[in-house]
Amino acid sequence: MNDKAFEGLEDLEIENLGIDTLAIRAGISRTHEGEHAEPIFTTSSYVFTSAREAAARFAGDEPGNVYSRYTNPTVRLFQERIAALEGGEAAVATSSGMAAILSTCMALLESGDHVVCSKSVFGTTTVLFTKYMRKFGVRVDFVELTDSEQWKSAVKADTKMLFVESPSNPLCAVADIEALSKLAQSVGALFVVDNCFCTPALQLPLRLGADIVIHSATKYLDGQGRCLGGAVVGKRELMDEVLAFVRSCGPTMSPFNAWVIAKGLETLRLRMEAHSRNAQNLSEWLQQHPKVEHVYYAGLRDHVGHSLAERQQRAFGGVLSFKVKGGKEEAWRLIDATKLMSLTANLGDAKTTIVHPATTTHGRLSDDEKATAGITDNLIRIAVGLEDVADLKADLERGFKAV
Ligand SMILES: *Cc1c(COP(=O)(O)O)cnc(C)c1O
Repeated sequence: MNDKAFEGLEDLEIENLGIDTLAIRAGISRTHEGEHAEPIFTTSSYVFTSAREAAARFAGDEPGNVYSRYTNPTVRLFQERIAALEGGEAAVATSSGMAAILSTCMALLESGDHVVCSKSVFGTTTVLFTKYMRKFGVRVDFVELTDSEQWKSAVKADTKMLFVESPSNPLCAVADIEALSKLAQSVGALFVVDNCFCTPALQLPLRLGADIVIHSATKYLDGQGRCLGGAVVGKRELMDEVLAFVRSCGPTMSPFNAWVIAKGLETLRLRMEAHSRNAQNLSEWLQQHPKVEHVYYAGLRDHVGHSLAERQQRAFGGVLSFKVKGGKEEAWRLIDATKLMSLTANLGDAKTTIVHPATTTHGRLSDDEKATAGITDNLIRIAVGLEDVADLKADLERGFKAV
């Protein structure tokens, strides 16, 4: 259609558009109703104009919708938008972040393959690799995120995948994405980066050489804690394999969730800048607080990952952690005395959240594992939201008074 009312971005060179424009415009294809905002297609299936067309669509010989387990216009909108933002050829949406990681592994690994994964990944990701991937014969080794010697000795000629998250949760350790992609390339392995903490507003792993970006869209992509979702982004031939898994096995994103998250992307950059600003301000304030032992935030000059983060990220993100002077009792008293911050393990929300990693998100680790990971009993994680930072400080001060 040439009518201006129906145009998407087809006539514009997508590579020439800025990230703010793509976040708002990418993926739009209007229906004959001429709606301005993106519609939600709540339909399980689609009708064909002829038996010949039905056969061609089923065979994949012609593009078009077939069945919403793997083709839905609202889900496609989200996929095209996140692919454009990450600078990837294509994306596949999934029902959650874990479904994105599972779909990537099931589509691209097979029995006997070797994976090297960072020790500092989302706890459930570790379970997926150790309990389920190993059950199907995938060999997995875990290494320190920032220890390049460990990576070099763990990666072998038959390694098929390297998997990292950066910055890490909760201590904000920073991986050298460019160096790890070169290492992966040297053995022909896929390099997968979970970009949940930075989002494409702050970090573009594909540009730094990664093959695949994973998202828990549940976090910053939605940004308001409303629904679950996931995404995998990368080269079209890889994404065709991931989509084939989703088509056959069913971890599909719902059209409603796709709509919520696609609309969330419109404000992603503004939100990530505000999260980062608030987190920087709060971490500098915490750093000079007499009841604080140490603050972990890559935006602080004394953080070991500061200069690397400055090089590969646009800002430092919304998650920080700190050690209160004392132990578990002090940490729990502080958390319980805050009134504004939500006590929940979720992150990537406009609402600030506070959590005690040692007994929640990292509670599954043994004492030894906690010690090597730096998850001490006095550590508190804050996923800084978009409230007034003065109110967040006042809330933490309530907590410090109770210590
Ligand atoms: C939450 C999270 C996941 C899992 O995503 P879900 O949407 O909860 O399944 C994966 N990776 C990271 C870094 C996360 O924070």
